[in-house]
Amino acid sequence: MITDQTDDIDYEIVAIRYATTRTRGVRDNFISVHDLHDGPMPMDFYVWAIIDGDRIILVDGGSDEEVCTRRGYRFLRCPAAALGQLGFSPEQVTDLVVTHMHWDHLGNLDKFPNARLYLHKSEIAHATGCAMCQPTLRKPYDVNQVCSVIKALYADRVAFNHGECRIAPGITLHHVGGHTPGLQVVRVRTARGNVVLASDALHFYANSLLGNPFPVVVNVQDYLDAFPKIEAWADSPDHIIAGHDPVIMQIYPPWSDAVRDMAVRLDVPPNGKPMSNLPTA
Ligand SMILES: [Zn+2]
Repeated sequence: MITDQTDDIDYEIVAIRYATTRTRGVRDNFISVHDLHDGPMPMDFYVWAIIDGDRIILVDGGSDEEVCTRRGYRFLRCPAAALGQLGFSPEQVTDLVVTHMHWDHLGNLDKFPNARLYLHKSEIAHATGCAMCQPTLRKPYDVNQVCSVIKALYADRVAFNHGECRIAPGITLHHVGGHTPGLQVVRVRTARGNVVLASDALHFYANSLLGNPFPVVVNVQDYLDAFPKIEAWADSPDHIIAGHDPVIMQIYPPWSDAVRDMAVRLDVPPNGKPMSNLPTA
């Protein structure tokens, strides 16, 4: 476990829901389905904003309406505009952690002109290398988004994580791989302890609880090996934030009543357990 005695900043974290799908079923969300009853299992799409006064560290850029709609998902709102509704401007985003380069995490880079990007080195190698000759591996990536990273790289706006790094006091990135080769999770110090934004290391809490990966996965062993690491980095299971689970909007309090369906706070304890989305076997 990382300890940093000098880190005395407690951050606020807000999860912003920007897209959703209600048509997904249980058997779409696990790699091993033979002992699972099928049924509806909706999925939400988020970005996460870590707030330090006037400075925003954004975790993922989400996606835009054109990309979401083309891929069959229901776009709800632009993440940059949503930040505006919370009282922040996109210019306040000084850092943007790209957990991985899939289409639903890498969009909107142009809307955050002051942001330095943080990527794991193996993710950009995967997304721009020979793996992309395989249509199955290429499908979750969007070429325009990938090109936007290359442009940022040539503009000296990209920093690479080589395994584990601290990007601000109390905020560390940890490479886990699995879902994609370069997937990284974000550990954030808050008033309730260290929260881990797990992104697609677990789409749903059920992926972790059942030890049953989401079916978009490059390395199953790495995917499964990430769970105990994430549990060690988080102060408790309640400090782990799944990447796509709709239960997040139910168990965490809204940022304000005006944005109840859009934004919830993760730096305060949940008011329930994330078990409600667990399919029955
Ligand atoms: Zn995702």
